[in-house]
Amino acid sequence: MEEDNKPVMFAMLADSRRSKYAIPEDGVYDNLMEEIFDPNPLRSHVITLHLYVEYWLDKILNGIGAEKIDRMTFNKKVNHLNNKEIIEEDLYSNIVAINRLRNVYAHELDLEKANKKVMILLQKMKIDPYFVTTDDDLFRSVCLQSMMLLEATFANGCKSPRLSDFPDEKVRDKLLKDGKLFWQECEITDIEEHGYISQYQLRCPLCLKGVIEREKDKTPGFKESFMGACNVCGLSGNGSTLELETVSSEHIDKIINQSENGPNKSN
Ligand SMILES: [Zn+2]
Repeated sequence: MEEDNKPVMFAMLADSRRSKYAIPEDGVYDNLMEEIFDPNPLRSHVITLHLYVEYWLDKILNGIGAEKIDRMTFNKKVNHLNNKEIIEEDLYSNIVAINRLRNVYAHELDLEKANKKVMILLQKMKIDPYFVTTDDDLFRSVCLQSMMLLEATFANGCKSPRLSDFPDEKVRDKLLKDGKLFWQECEITDIEEHGYISQYQLRCPLCLKGVIEREKDKTPGFKESFMGACNVCGLSGNGSTLELETVSSEHIDKIINQSENGPNKSN
């Protein structure tokens, strides 16, 4: 906004020349004018996104028949849902961090101090491996991801839709039948993004015990995928596809027999 468009304000209460408080040396009014006429987008984004996350918390609380929701604090809402195991740990800790971050901006006048605290909180936030985004604003991504997970929880009859019932057996049957499996059909347990490089951790679809690492390099003009091998059974593949022939047939029989006789067998 143009300097000329800012209104002039002053108070004729006392002779300001005699008051040591007349012009605060820390420039608090300068900051105020700047925040009113040229608001810091981060402060308003954080407070707005927080409100939208709360919208879904309220929907779920309503859905499970919680009482006096409008008198609950944000923290109480999220703790209530966590205690009832409606939202799992990663989502819970992200929402707690969203709330802390919001409180920093809601209570800290000094934006420079606020930004320092925010950076520490941002490091605790985690992108869900099943959430895909091209947004490099981590806070915005975590808020939108949290909203989508909460919406999915609401749509699932207010129960967590998470992967506790991943169809391991079905995926393994497909691998045994077709001899190969596209990496995205496996259970993705973690993702880390480093610039153009995405590192995924997959639960091994054969032994169900080991971890297979997959890396995707999206550097422009240099697209490539690398597939590691299962640290337990050795299953591996080529780029994006896991191939059964990377494990000997005797070993496969042993793995299948073991899990069929083991305590983890699910019908
Ligand atoms: Zn394995």
